[in-house]
Amino acid sequence: MKKIIVAIDGYSSCGKSTIAKALAKYAGYTYVDTGAMYRAIGLYTLRHGLKEQADIVAALPNIQVGFVQVDGVQHVTLNGEDVESQIRTLEAGNCASRISQIKEVRAYLVAQQQAMGEEKGIVMDGRDIGTVVFPKAELKLFLTASPEVRAQRRFDELVSKGEQPNYDEVLADVNDRDYRDTHRAESPLKQANDAVVVDNSFMTPDEQMKLIYSIFEKACK
Ligand code: C5P
Repeated sequence: MKKIIVAIDGYSSCGKSTIAKALAKYAGYTYVDTGAMYRAIGLYTLRHGLKEQADIVAALPNIQVGFVQVDGVQHVTLNGEDVESQIRTLEAGNCASRISQIKEVRAYLVAQQQAMGEEKGIVMDGRDIGTVVFPKAELKLFLTASPEVRAQRRFDELVSKGEQPNYDEVLADVNDRDYRDTHRAESPLKQANDAVVVDNSFMTPDEQMKLIYSIFEKACK
């Protein structure tokens, strides 16, 4: 079977990374979580107290984002340090959403992401994968679910990590992030014309994966 590029885009907390990881495993492909890359840069700016856009852009040459495998699980690294747990907080997510609006930050990460796809056999998830990073990807999936369903998922995820979130705050955060992701000037989140849309609000994980695997099989033919 030919190797393809699978681009998965969609709103925050609609299960993109779970689907992308499962599909990559199923296909024997490499999985790349581009949100983790933006989060790692966000974490760097938090740690260094960088707030001004010019300071963030000037710091880019000092920021190396990478991935390592830890017990078969992909962890993101920031200048060689495994920061997987630090980037998964609400604060780091919000910061990622802010710095992702900076054109130079996007160009910096998009170039790295395109290089990762040169050999194909890759499943990449994010917001601009099918529109900007790989506009010629053989398969583009656009995932969506209602804001309330996504807020509940994020709430459950934070609780499982020992945090004590407030549901209304999490929902407000989901809505804010959707707004920023879809309204920013640089590469706003939008569905590619040739993307297959999957609304998983009311699908079980099994139903969803069956559907995704069948779409993938068709795309490889
Ligand atoms: O997907 P995740 O929630 O981890 O992404 C964190 C933030 O990074 C998002 O809110 C979004 O603003 C940004 N992002 C982006 N482009 C991508 C992936 C993530 O702008 N390809």
